[in-house]
Amino acid sequence: MDDRLRILAFQNAETSRLMGVEYVPMYRTDAPDGPALTAPPQLVQPTPAQVAAPMPRVAAMAEVKLPQRVATVQPTLLATPKSPFATPTCPAEVAAARTPEQAQAALDALRARYEADAPHKHFKTDHHSIVWGEGEPRARLMFIGEAPGEEEDKTGRPFVGKAGQLLNKMIAGMGLKREQVYIANVLKTRPPGNATPTTQEAEACAPYLFEQIAIVGPEAIVTLGLPATRLLLATIANMGELRGRWSQFRCADGRKIPVMPTYHPAYLLRSYTDENRAKVWSDLKMVIVKLGLSAAAT
Ligand code: URA
Repeated sequence: MDDRLRILAFQNAETSRLMGVEYVPMYRTDAPDGPALTAPPQLVQPTPAQVAAPMPRVAAMAEVKLPQRVATVQPTLLATPKSPFATPTCPAEVAAARTPEQAQAALDALRARYEADAPHKHFKTDHHSIVWGEGEPRARLMFIGEAPGEEEDKTGRPFVGKAGQLLNKMIAGMGLKREQVYIANVLKTRPPGNATPTTQEAEACAPYLFEQIAIVGPEAIVTLGLPATRLLLATIANMGELRGRWSQFRCADGRKIPVMPTYHPAYLLRSYTDENRAKVWSDLKMVIVKLGLSAAAT
């Protein structure tokens, strides 16, 4: 394997580790989502011995010599911006009293503030558009992913690529329409090479996401993958420890919003096993029960 492939394999493995998996998964070719969702990976074809071996940790990655051109792909935080918010939240009673139109206007005003502040200027991006978030402005349920990918960057809308198609199925399985929930990301701009957001990048954009949550005021949040989960729960625990049970996001005004962490749909697509699908569905069923939804199938 040449250096470039080795580095990409390590990046892929490290991303999987950050999403909470302990090994590089084998891929199924019989998943029911059509060929686009099931194509085997081009770069990582682990041997049984590699599958059995523990995941490479960051220390192991450090042993790989990175050529300069690849090293520059990693996003770098140039400076930490100050929080732009004097009053960092929308109080519960204000949020609850708003009509959907007023909530949408508040979200639009927040977006304008984000665009003026442009916290993404402080780190490297590969973006052509701001992917702000979309959905019902007073939704009962909010999904939070990590960052826009290529399709999202092209369209300016969250979760419209392959991961988005799977998220749509998850939402439909819960008995909801996509327009009934609110979907946002930790980062609003595409990272270079779809890199996993760093903690500093996530924190630089966090005030805007937290304010989005405060305005929407959902009854529950599903965090998709580790970056969103860690940011909202202020933890460094792994997905295996966090998914499948309720935690809480504490708004700055003291509101506590239940959070159900689950695997990111992109991870699920890469590791489309019965076991992982069952885990995600079991996480979603807990949300269905909490919100009293009538799931399409339970
Ligand atoms: N992955 C994410 O985390 N967010 C998107 O919007 C798309 C893919």
